Amino acid sequence: MTTHRTTLHGKNALVTGGSRGIGAAIALRLAREGADVAVTYVHGKEAAEEVVRRIEALGRRAVSLRADSADAEEAGGAVERTAQALGGLDVLVNNAGVGVLGPVEGLSLADVDRVLAVNVRGVFLTSQAAATRMPPGGRIVTIGTCMTQRVPGPGGTLYATSKAALIGLTKALARELGGRGITANIVHPGPIDTDMNPAGGPYAADQAAMTALGRFGTAEEVAAMVVHLAGAEYVTGAEFAVDGGFAA
Ligand code: NDP
Repeated sequence: MTTHRTTLHGKNALVTGGSRGIGAAIALRLAREGADVAVTYVHGKEAAEEVVRRIEALGRRAVSLRADSADAEEAGGAVERTAQALGGLDVLVNNAGVGVLGPVEGLSLADVDRVLAVNVRGVFLTSQAAATRMPPGGRIVTIGTCMTQRVPGPGGTLYATSKAALIGLTKALARELGGRGITANIVHPGPIDTDMNPAGGPYAADQAAMTALGRFGTAEEVAAMVVHLAGAEYVTGAEFAVDGGFAA
């Protein structure tokens, strides 16, 4: 039996792309704060099931769902599947994202369609389904990027375009859903040590040097902000950098 106070006790959360990296850290931190959690994945079935096991070990309920954010039906459907499995949806974390970096002249139409499908259309459709399903007091937290605040060099056109769209979505959702007490906020991570951007990668030292703190961040440091926003009351339509001062 839980005896300590938990801020998200009794809440049901969905984290897209929760099998690895920042999403897995968010899912675990939500559970530590008392939430029951669904995570989506595409390829990482075993990794997602391991996240579920770790959440269950914390005494919370969890479920993993294969749902490709690039697929329109699966992106929206993850909300209803979560509500069915857990009994509702109070917190949506739009975390799943892909990055394709490279010179603008070299990006293919397939690159453009893939990145926009996952990073923009998928987030829109999942948020739309959540807006339909969420009760008053719902929370939507979206993961953007520090590259919407400062593009430090070439190669970021497609990724920055896709993530910048999420700022508009967040502000518009805040306006539209505020009357129901539902908030929408966006978190901009700086360089975070994950499979997508390993701290030992070829461009890691340059990225670390661009931050004021001179280092990569951890997935847990991003998760702490997301979970704070999942419990915050009078905060909506806002952008939060967790970037070590990358944009300063
Ligand atoms: P990772 O590549 O390490 O993990 C990505 C996660 O998203 C995995 O769980 C993956 O699942 C899932 N995923 C990928 N594509 C899809 C899809 N089409 N549908 C559903 N799930 C999907 O990324 P990070 O943890 O580094 O990034 C998480 C978010 O943070 C992204 O939105 C990213 O853009 C953003 N971000 C990351 C930064 C960084 O430096 N790492 C900096 C700024 C922003 P599976 O295991 O099945 O592949």
